[in-house]
Amino acid sequence: MTSTNHALTALVTGSTRCNGIGLGIAKCLAKNHNMNIILHGTRDGATKEVEKCRGDFAKEYNVSVHYIQADLSTSSGAQQLCEQIDVIYPDGIDVLVNNAGGGHHNLVEDVPLQVWESVLTTNLTSPFVLIKHFITAMKKRGWGRIINISSMFGVRAHAKSAVYTSSKHGLNGLTKAVGKETAGTGVTCNAVCPGYVETELYFKTLEAVVEKDGVSKEEAKTFLMNPTKKLVTPEQIGETVSFLCSRAADNTTAAEFLIDGAHSA
Ligand code: NAD
Repeated sequence: MTSTNHALTALVTGSTRCNGIGLGIAKCLAKNHNMNIILHGTRDGATKEVEKCRGDFAKEYNVSVHYIQADLSTSSGAQQLCEQIDVIYPDGIDVLVNNAGGGHHNLVEDVPLQVWESVLTTNLTSPFVLIKHFITAMKKRGWGRIINISSMFGVRAHAKSAVYTSSKHGLNGLTKAVGKETAGTGVTCNAVCPGYVETELYFKTLEAVVEKDGVSKEEAKTFLMNPTKKLVTPEQIGETVSFLCSRAADNTTAAEFLIDGAHSA
């Protein structure tokens, strides 16, 4: 339950990948709050998989579902996403979930500048562009939720993660600054910081560690595991985001929510 009367609309970036965190979040928001959903991804909306994902979603949850394609590795891509949403929802959106993101596994001296710029733009600059665009209408309405999907790498560093760690630390900093700025306006801004989650990104990281560190898949799995010995699920992240959209979380802002099975303790 939220504190407004109209049907709420949520944008979840990076949300069309099966078993991805983004789709898990979008499903929880539709299921628990009956929110209209804007799905986003890098694929053409006319492709069969994307159209099926959008259609199945709308049928299962009986909410309005749009899909918008945009490349968030450039700030102009993020700007275009905002402009396309303005056409559909001229009064703005109620919930912004900055989920799209990626990483790079390498020693700092082996990170190409182009990779640094692309990951930083996707993980940090694009969330900034989206927040900047949608926050004014949220404040005017006196209610809004901004949730940034960060990582345990947003609070701790590990070797060979300079790009990812820097981007997620930046995202946590942005979260806290926006949370402070909006305190008392009805808008909250929080970061959710998962440990290892069972998604395509996790399996890609596993492969990168096997290839670059010369270890077996089993060794890599032992290393890339939460202390609970269980991978986090996209649904667990979705339910946390869902809580942050509830009235119970009205006073929860500028916070970092670790869901990392005790990794960062
Ligand atoms: P995923 O690779 O399954 O999904 C990432 C999503 O981001 C995809 O939908 C992809 O299309 C989108 N994306 C990536 N680059 C993009 C770009 N340039 N432009 C537009 N969209 C882009 O990964 P996931 O595990 O679901 O990750 C979702 C978020 O969770 C990311 O921000 C990631 O950093 C974070 N996270 C993941 C894990 C994990 O172990 N999987 C752990 C902690 C945090």
